[in-house]
Amino acid sequence: MAKVVCVLYDDPVEGYPESYARDDLPKLTHYPDGQTLPTPKAIDFQAGTLLGSVSGELGLRRYLEANGHALVVTSDKDGPDSVFERELPDADVVISQPFWPAYLTAERIAKAPKLKLALTAGIGSDHVDLQASIERGITVAEVTYCNSISVSEHVVMMILGLVRNYIPSYQWVVKGGWNIADCVTRSYDLEGMHVGSVAAGRIGLAVLKRLKPFDVHLHYTDRHRLPEEVEKELGLTFHETAADMVPHCDVVTINAPLHPETENLFNADLISTMKRGAYLINTARGKIANREDVAAALESGQLAGYAGDVWFPQPPPQDHPWRSMPYHGMTPHTSGTSLSAQTRYAAGCREILECWFAGEPIREEYLIVDGGRLAGTGAHSYSAGDATGGSAEAARFKKG
Ligand code: NDP
Repeated sequence: MAKVVCVLYDDPVEGYPESYARDDLPKLTHYPDGQTLPTPKAIDFQAGTLLGSVSGELGLRRYLEANGHALVVTSDKDGPDSVFERELPDADVVISQPFWPAYLTAERIAKAPKLKLALTAGIGSDHVDLQASIERGITVAEVTYCNSISVSEHVVMMILGLVRNYIPSYQWVVKGGWNIADCVTRSYDLEGMHVGSVAAGRIGLAVLKRLKPFDVHLHYTDRHRLPEEVEKELGLTFHETAADMVPHCDVVTINAPLHPETENLFNADLISTMKRGAYLINTARGKIANREDVAAALESGQLAGYAGDVWFPQPPPQDHPWRSMPYHGMTPHTSGTSLSAQTRYAAGCREILECWFAGEPIREEYLIVDGGRLAGTGAHSYSAGDATGGSAEAARFKKG
C-alpha cells in the first residue's frame, strides 16, 4: 500500500460547481507532433469537470483506494504547520501542480524518507528541487504536452490584450464610461511588429504558428535549432541567445522552463537592451523575470506592458509588486488549467500512477528525473540544479 499526498488548489469560493457552461469537450487523440494524449486503462471522472481543485481530486480517489492505496488531498501547502508538511514523513508519492505548487525543497525532501515519486499534474517541475531528487533517487515526472496548446492560446490572447490595450478599455465600460481617447492612446496594431519567442519547444512553436497569420516578423532563440523547413514555413529568424534576439523585438514571449540557466534571465540588464515600449509576455515561470526590474521598467516606460500568469512565489504575497505595477495584464496561474487541460493532465496522472504501481516504465517523454539523473524531457529541456530557493515566502500569502 502506498500513501499518495496530493496538493491541489482550493475549490471556487461559491463551492464546487454543480453544472458547467458547456456540455462537452472536443475529442482529441494526438498532440501536434503525433504524441498520443494520455492513455490510462480507465478514468473515473467526467471530462470537462473541475478536477484540479481539492474536491476534484484529479479523479483519482476511487482508483487509488480500490487498489489499496491511501490518498490525502489538501490545499494547505505552505509553512511548517501545513497539512502538506505534516503528511510528508510517510508519503510515498507526492502529486502537485504548478498552479498551486507544493514546493519540494531539499529540506522537505529530507523530511520524506519514503518519497519515491514526485508527480506534476501539468508541465514544469521547477517547484521540485531536481538536484536533491537526483541525489535521493526520486523519480520526477510530468504530463508532457497536456497543456502546451492551452498556454499557447493564452499567450496569443495576452499579446493582443496588451498591444490593443484591451483590459483598460474593458474597464471603462464596466465603470460606465465611453472614453475612447483614454482607451486608444496606448492601443496599436500587432501587424508588422517583430515578435520573438524565448524557446521554441511545444509551447513556443505553437505560439509562433498561431502568430504567423497576423503578418508579423517572427524570431526565436532555443538551445536546439528547429528544422530548416519549419523555419522557412514560418519565416523565422533564429538568434543564438535571448540577448541577441530581444533588441530586435517589439514583443517578447517567454516559453522556456525555469532552471538555473533561465532564472532571472529578464533582469534590468537584459530589459534595458529591449526596444523602448516593448511588451513582455511570460507564461513560463515567474522567476525567469526579475520582479523588481519588471516593475521598474513599466514605471519608466522601458516596457509598455507585461502580462502573464506565472509568479514567484505562488501564491504571491499581497505586496508583490506585480499586483500593483502599471500596464500589466497579470492573472493568477490559469493558462494551463482550463477544464480542457485538466481532463488531459488528470488522465496523464492516472496513466503514470498505473505504470508506477505496476512496475512498468513511464513514458520517456513524461520523465524529468529518473534513476539518479535528468531523463526524458528533463534531459532535453532542463539543467540539473534547484530553482525552489525563496519559495518559503509563499506562506506570507496566508497571513495576508
Ligand atoms: P518543452 O520542453 O516542449 O519546451 C521547452 C523549450 O525550452 C525547449 O525547446 C528547450 O530547449 C527550451 N529551453 C530550455 N532552456 C533554454 C534556454 N536557456 N534558452 C532557450 N531555450 C531554452 O516545454 P513546453 O513548451 O511544453 O513548456 C515550456 C515551459 O512552459 C514549461 O517548462 C513550464 O515552465 C511552462 N508552462 C507553463 C504553463 C502555465 O500554465 N503557465 C503550463 C505549461 C508549461 P531544448 O529542449 O531544445 O534544449
